[in-house]
Amino acid sequence: MIQPNSELVIDYELVRNNIQVIRKNLPKECKLMGVIKSNAYGHDLEKTIQALDGVIDGYGVVRLEEAFKIRNASVKPILAMQGVYSSDAYDSLKQHNVWSVIHSISQLPLAKQYQDDLTFWIKVNTGMNRLGIRLDELEKFESFLKDSNTLMTHLACADNPEDELNKTQFSNFDQAWNQVTNTMQRSVLNSAGIFNFPDHAYDWVRSGIAMYGGIDYPDLKTAMTFRSQIISIQSLDENERIGYGGRVTTKAPSKIAIVYCGYADGFPQIAIDGTSVIVNSHLSQIIGRVSMDLISIDVTEIPDCKIGDWCELWSPDLSILENTKKNHLISYELMTKMSQRVKRQYLNI
Ligand SMILES: *Cc1c(COP(=O)(O)O)cnc(C)c1O
Repeated sequence: MIQPNSELVIDYELVRNNIQVIRKNLPKECKLMGVIKSNAYGHDLEKTIQALDGVIDGYGVVRLEEAFKIRNASVKPILAMQGVYSSDAYDSLKQHNVWSVIHSISQLPLAKQYQDDLTFWIKVNTGMNRLGIRLDELEKFESFLKDSNTLMTHLACADNPEDELNKTQFSNFDQAWNQVTNTMQRSVLNSAGIFNFPDHAYDWVRSGIAMYGGIDYPDLKTAMTFRSQIISIQSLDENERIGYGGRVTTKAPSKIAIVYCGYADGFPQIAIDGTSVIVNSHLSQIIGRVSMDLISIDVTEIPDCKIGDWCELWSPDLSILENTKKNHLISYELMTKMSQRVKRQYLNI
């Protein structure tokens, strides 16, 4: 074995396949904004643009640096989803032809100076109470409520269709819509919304996590493989304890493999015993506490497991959701927290 390293392998063909699955759920004329904030949820901003520019209709980001990087590589629409706050920033939006969101009455005076030069998405607060203009303030934005702009909102519970807040938000959004010209474009749905409420797709949907395969829907696949190699194997008797705190005591003679990867690579420290991993195409489990640079897994039942074998922490064959559900985590956080020291490989850009 050469010097091992933890690896993140990103397969853009899988991202493009996920986009096809998303499109199948949408009316044909609905446009897909690929959300690539936070370095494309850890999938590398620049390579993601290269890989997806032919299959999406626009880009959603938060940071302006990201917006300008995209503009260097693409002519498609770009939306700065959390707005901008200075004339310098508005001037650069103009220069780079980037759209932005107005979500607060406090943005109004400055935005007014640019209303004829820029494209705006007007975000209404329909019940999430994070960002958004109150319905009773909407009339103050009258000059922005025109055809070239878009009326938007964001759902708080799109991943839980049973939650009544969804109904409230749709009804409030309709109310806002009735107040405006009715010829503005509309955008409501994020990834979960696309699968749970396709009737509300309207003109634009904004999808991030589904493109990367981080929500549970048939045919979506985790597009990143996080893996590292086994550097040691312990043969233990019954009644021996494993790792920091000796969290686990063996109930029978066991074979434990030690993987060259830990929380400093971005693997969650809180992962419980029983969290799934894959070794040589066999399902295996974490056993004992995750340390900074090492993870111990139970390979008692895995034939011929040896030093140098790869252990997948998540991959197209082991959804990242296996890991997050057991540990009360979310895929978004794991994807965006992969550490710099993990070696990157990019396939099918
Ligand atoms: C991040 C974000 C999205 C994308 O959400 P996903 O759940 O990743 O699809 C959509 N809209 C807004 C305003 C966002 O901030």
